[in-house]
Amino acid sequence: MSSEVLFATTRYDKYDVSQTLPAKFERLIDAMNMEDVVKGKWTAVKMHVGRNMGYSTVHPLFVKKLVDKLKSYGAKVFVTDQTVSGARARGYTEEFLGVPIVAACGVMNRYYYEKYVDFKTFKNVDIAGHIHDAEVMIDFSHVKGHGVCGYGGACKNIAMGCVTDRTRQQIHSLEGGLEWNEELCIHCEACVNSCNHDANKFDTDNRYSINFHHCTYCQHCVKVCPTEAIRLNVNSYEDFQKGMALCTAEVLKTFKPDHVFYINFLMNITALCDCWGMTTPALVPDIGIMASKDIVAIERASLDSIKFEDLLIPGVPHGMELGDHGHLFERLHGKNPFVQLKELEALGLGTQEYTVKEIK
Ligand code: SF4
Ligand code: SF4
Repeated sequence: MSSEVLFATTRYDKYDVSQTLPAKFERLIDAMNMEDVVKGKWTAVKMHVGRNMGYSTVHPLFVKKLVDKLKSYGAKVFVTDQTVSGARARGYTEEFLGVPIVAACGVMNRYYYEKYVDFKTFKNVDIAGHIHDAEVMIDFSHVKGHGVCGYGGACKNIAMGCVTDRTRQQIHSLEGGLEWNEELCIHCEACVNSCNHDANKFDTDNRYSINFHHCTYCQHCVKVCPTEAIRLNVNSYEDFQKGMALCTAEVLKTFKPDHVFYINFLMNITALCDCWGMTTPALVPDIGIMASKDIVAIERASLDSIKFEDLLIPGVPHGMELGDHGHLFERLHGKNPFVQLKELEALGLGTQEYTVKEIK
């Protein structure tokens, strides 16, 4: 069985305000039929408020439209993110939005509920207290590329944004894919010189280290190494995405069925995540907004809408080489972004089969 994904496109038939994206967004929210679910309930709008100089997060006008709709349905709304210190700089203010903007783990960053998983180095899912206590969540995500998992959307917004720093660090500790054998290494540095992504170096104690965010698994280092001291373990880069999916599943367990709605904002789709605190030119033309009750379906529909043939070359950050296979994000980051979807699906959170209903 397939799940429905609502879609408001940026394209328009006539030059009229009713055909613009904010107007379509209002109609898309109505079509989500949230009123009966959110009425009288504490409803968390989980978004990434951005950092530093970034300007590619969701435009405040759209957040305001969503908040106003939810309030008109009788919801008790608040906007939240793991940290909200960057909110004001991007125009997300309580004065403008008319609702509280709260740090998900509280002002002291110590309010969370512990759950446990057992996946390699990932053990503690510390669910942010205000997410745990919310009765409904709107997972409002800006879609973009991501260095470690290829793609950041609805899953990443929950897994890395609804938990404590300890949990984020444990998920990051799953990064991997290349192994260095100290005994075989003769320190010729051919590996470092062959890397076009600034992803590897020798630390001051002469130990080899890899920045897996930058690494695209191009294997230049593997191939130039004269002693076979670097080995590729092709599957272990997938662990990060598996960890994200596991974490997302734990967070979603705190909500009753059908009490989480997903909205993916497919605008300003950049190569790198908003957590970098900077914005590069868009990778593809703006697409629009999608919504669904199925996290897997919306992620699949979002990825399918971002096509390699639409690539805008200035959106490829300086120094990054494009690979020759897979999704645009895989060509960019060397990581298959569909891994997280398969994991979410295997955990019973939805289906990659979807139908699109366009909101006119
Ligand atoms: S696999 Fe490629 S990107 Fe990764 S460290 Fe080696 S040379 Fe650099
Ligand atoms: S290329 Fe191989 S031998 Fe040379 S420094 Fe790198 S890991 Fe060591």
